[in-house]
Amino acid sequence: MDINTICVHGCVKKYDTTGAVSVPIFASSTFAHPGVGQSTGFDYSRSQNPTKEHLEQTITALEGGFETIAFSSGMAAVSALMELFSPGDHIVASDDLYGGTFRLFSHVSEKNGMKFSYAASSDEIAAKITPATKAIIIETPSNPMMNVVDIEAVAKISNNKNILLIVDNTFLTPVFQRPLSLGADIVLHSGTKYLGGHNDTLSGMLTVKNSELAERLRFIAKTTGGCLSPFDSFLIIRGIKTLAIRMECHNKTALHIAKWLTEQKKVKKVYYIGLKDHPDYAISCRQASGFGGMISFTVDCEETAKSILENVKVIKYAESLGGTESLITYPLLQTHADLPKHEREARGINECLLRLSVGLEAENDIIEDLKHAMDSR
Ligand SMILES: *Cc1c(COP(=O)(O)O)cnc(C)c1O
Repeated sequence: MDINTICVHGCVKKYDTTGAVSVPIFASSTFAHPGVGQSTGFDYSRSQNPTKEHLEQTITALEGGFETIAFSSGMAAVSALMELFSPGDHIVASDDLYGGTFRLFSHVSEKNGMKFSYAASSDEIAAKITPATKAIIIETPSNPMMNVVDIEAVAKISNNKNILLIVDNTFLTPVFQRPLSLGADIVLHSGTKYLGGHNDTLSGMLTVKNSELAERLRFIAKTTGGCLSPFDSFLIIRGIKTLAIRMECHNKTALHIAKWLTEQKKVKKVYYIGLKDHPDYAISCRQASGFGGMISFTVDCEETAKSILENVKVIKYAESLGGTESLITYPLLQTHADLPKHEREARGINECLLRLSVGLEAENDIIEDLKHAMDSR
C-alpha cells in the first residue's frame, strides 16, 4: 500500500463496533477480565492501551518494521533503549547528535558504566568499534549540522559484527527514509516533531525489525513506565493522517528558502541536504526520497543572528521542529547548550549559527519575515 494511504488509514484493526472512522480515545487505565486467567488482550494501560496500539501499528506499517513501542517523549524512548545495555558496553554514536541525546549519554548512561565514542562518517564509525561495542547510534541528517551518514554502509559494518544499528529518523520520517530497509535494527523517533506535526504533543517511538528486540523492549517499556497516554496517542494518529502531504510541503518550501538564503549577503553558509553542493548530496539522493524541512545557516556576525531571532514575526523563536509553525532556534544557547564549548565549536555550533524548521506557511511570507528580521539591525 502507498505511504499516503497508510498515513490516512493507519492500522486497519478495528477496536470498537460503532463504525467510528477515527480510532476512539480509550481513556481507561485498566481493563476488566472476562474470566480467571483470561484477558481481552488489554490488562493495564502501562502495558498496552488500544489507542496506543493503533498508533504503534501505524508506525510499524510506515517504517516497514516488526513492532513499534510508543513513549511519552523522544527522550523516554532513548532512555528505554539504553536499558538494553549493561555496564562496560560500548556504543559508537554520531558526533552531531541531538543535544538531549548527548546529555543522556554523557550525564546518565556514562554514570551507569556505559562507554561512548563519537564518529562522523561510516569509515570513522568502523575505526571506533571495539570488542565491547554493542550498538551504533546514528542520526541522519544530523542535528543541527545536517551531516548525512550512509546507512547501508554502516549496516554492513554492524551486521557483520552482531552490533545493533539504531537510526534516529526524526528529521526525514518514513515518508522520505526507511532505515530498516537499509539494514538498521531499530528506528527511533521523536514523534513530537514531524509525526505529530502540530507543535502540540510530545512523544517518542522505537520501531524494531524482529520479535526478539520487540520482546526485550516491551518488557523494558512496561517495567520502566514511560508510556504514551491514550489522548496523546490519538493526537499523533491524527497528525500522521497528513504526514505525507505535510512532508512534501515542508520539503518544497525548504528547498526554495535554502536557495534564497544562499543568495543573501549576510548569510555565510547554508546547511540543507537538498542543495546540490551539500557534501553528502549523492548519499541523500540514494537513501532518501526527499530532503525534509530543516535548514541550518550561519550569518555574518552574532548581532545579525540575534536580530533575526528577536525580529521574526511569522517564524517563532522557539525550540523544537517539524510542526505546522516555522520555528527558529539558536543551537548555541538552546538545543546544544549542554555540549562542552570545544566540542560545540569543533562541530561548527557557534554564535552565528541558526536552525530553521520550515513550517507550512506560504514560502513568501517566510522569506519576507527573514528578510525583514535580517535587516532590522
Ligand atoms: C527532539 C529530538 C529528540 C528528543 O525528543 P523529545 O520528544 O523532545 O524528547 C531526539 N532526537 C531528535 C533528532 C530530536 O529532534
